[in-house]
Amino acid sequence: MTQNTTTRLLIIGPPGAGKGTQAGKIAARYGVPAISTGDIFRANISGGTPLGQQVQAIIERGELVPDELTNEIVADRLTQEDAAAGFLLDGYPRTVDQVHALDGMLDGSSLDAVVLLEADADEVVARLLKRAELEGRADDTEDVIRHRQDVYAEQTAPLIELFSERGILVPVDGLGTVDAVAERIANGLDAQLSARVSH
Ligand code: AMP
Repeated sequence: MTQNTTTRLLIIGPPGAGKGTQAGKIAARYGVPAISTGDIFRANISGGTPLGQQVQAIIERGELVPDELTNEIVADRLTQEDAAAGFLLDGYPRTVDQVHALDGMLDGSSLDAVVLLEADADEVVARLLKRAELEGRADDTEDVIRHRQDVYAEQTAPLIELFSERGILVPVDGLGTVDAVAERIANGLDAQLSARVSH
């Protein structure tokens, strides 16, 4: 039995499933940083950086930022000290190409577990429209929300099968209170991670 000392996690699911909220909780529980590509892009947009200027229009349309640029940002973020013992990725990888890029960054090792936050399409659109009222995100208008759901279905949903084949998928019902969903995730992840160390 080899004790794995890193904890490399990913949370995946349709826009509006509650990934960001749950990401913070998972990261705190396992003592790893939550790394959200969406947050990195938004911080650059509000800071008016060259990267922000490059991605702003793409994000406001609900399209994906090109893989090459996104991969570069994540590769850089993962080399920072706080990610050495592990991390929770939120919103990356989002395409099959990004999965392969991440495999390369992890240099032979792989993610330990992938939480799939499952949520019904009508429910997630309703949640995002509510978030639009509260937070005013530029990509939370109804048309863009629907487009982001389509982009997820086309480009990101195929990753579920891929992670399932790798035996690391932890599907969790995303419907319910924040605490109830957090508990389901914790139970699923604990089971997945303890199976890992006993191999
Ligand atoms: P999120 O906060 O994860 O919903 O991301 C907001 C937006 O940022 C997405 O709709 C994309 O435009 C962009 N984005 C975030 N992560 C990625 C990624 N891994 N690949 C491409 N674009 C991304």
